[in-house]
Amino acid sequence: MVQAGYRETLKFYADCGATSIVVSYEGAHPEYYEGLKLPLLQREETKPTLKEICEMAEEVGVEVEVVIDPKNSIFASKFPETAITDVLGNKSKFVPCPSNPDIMAYTKARIRDILENYESIMAIELDGVYIDMHQRMTNRRVEKGALYPLHHLVPESCFCKHCRRLAEEEGLNLKRIEETVKEITLRSLNISLDSFHQVYDTFTGGYDIVRFMLDHPEVLDWLEFRCKLVARSLEAIREVVKSIDPKVKIFHDMLPPIWAWSMGQDYAGQKHLCDGYKIIFFNKRTGSYEVNPLMAIKDEDPEIPDSEIMELFKRLTGYQGGLSFAEFSQQGFPPINVYYELRKARVEVGSDYFLIAGIVGDQPATPNDVEEAITMAAKGGADGFCLHTWYGRTTPSNYAAFGNKGRELAKPIQE
Ligand SMILES: [Zn+2]
Repeated sequence: MVQAGYRETLKFYADCGATSIVVSYEGAHPEYYEGLKLPLLQREETKPTLKEICEMAEEVGVEVEVVIDPKNSIFASKFPETAITDVLGNKSKFVPCPSNPDIMAYTKARIRDILENYESIMAIELDGVYIDMHQRMTNRRVEKGALYPLHHLVPESCFCKHCRRLAEEEGLNLKRIEETVKEITLRSLNISLDSFHQVYDTFTGGYDIVRFMLDHPEVLDWLEFRCKLVARSLEAIREVVKSIDPKVKIFHDMLPPIWAWSMGQDYAGQKHLCDGYKIIFFNKRTGSYEVNPLMAIKDEDPEIPDSEIMELFKRLTGYQGGLSFAEFSQQGFPPINVYYELRKARVEVGSDYFLIAGIVGDQPATPNDVEEAITMAAKGGADGFCLHTWYGRTTPSNYAAFGNKGRELAKPIQE
């Protein structure tokens, strides 16, 4: 770890070419949360305070963005009525539903608290608005196995009373959708060597997804509706941010296009609700998270070969690395993946939309990995880069690599 004062660290970032930092706000002004159903989750603000950070940042010429989490897991676990609910009636322990009015009221209060008390904040970063039973970006080992692609093509949530009401209002055939989602969810959870091969043998390429969708057209309505739910939430957030200060920008943390849709994130359809997207690339780390739900499939029936689980994953996601859990876990996605995902995002949002590539900076990512990912992001059309320091676990050499490469790519990239 670099042992340096906060001011020196900010100076170091500025020297590395960073133009803004993203920080969280620990404190709170309790009056903003009065009358809410959900209690204020207040912590003591540790030093340096947000006010002090803003002052120091201004001195070194760096702007400050504050990250807020519109889906605090504490609410989902302590107040199950706010949690994402699956088609079988299970409640998520990790993710509250963005359609829940009490969750939205808390998020709005949080935004007002920050923007009305700290004038120099230039942007609010949304730490992922999405609909999923678990924390998709950091899949845990505790999730029960579910067969791909059924598990993703037919998302099991959210069937909370608020989402149900909104589905009725939209005129969806919720009864038919619910029947299909239930049937496919149960099929995805029923794992054996035989049931695995039923998917493995029938999804051999991308075109097979089309066959699946033609057989289950209501699934498209469901996927589209889930995007509308996320859009509805973003719209409410935008309204409050812009009513306080139209100059404050909203950046949304997005999963890469290849699976953002599975959680209701829609690059083209939601762009007008945000001022830019930050695409979260765990590229090098992706394997260590995404291998967990794959191993969970194996747990259900050890007869299923690892290599076939990985082969199916490869057909669906375009993963190009080795076909063992160990290789995937250690190597993750290669840098070319960053290029392709940026290209997809760019094509979806058009040439003038603000896209930032969020690159992970902790180990096993090396300085070389960080540099390659930034280069690929630039080639794919990123407007800027963000380094995920992952709670202080980024190595000093990865910071330096990020800064050096970022500065170099301020000029047009050389082929
Ligand atoms: Zn819901």
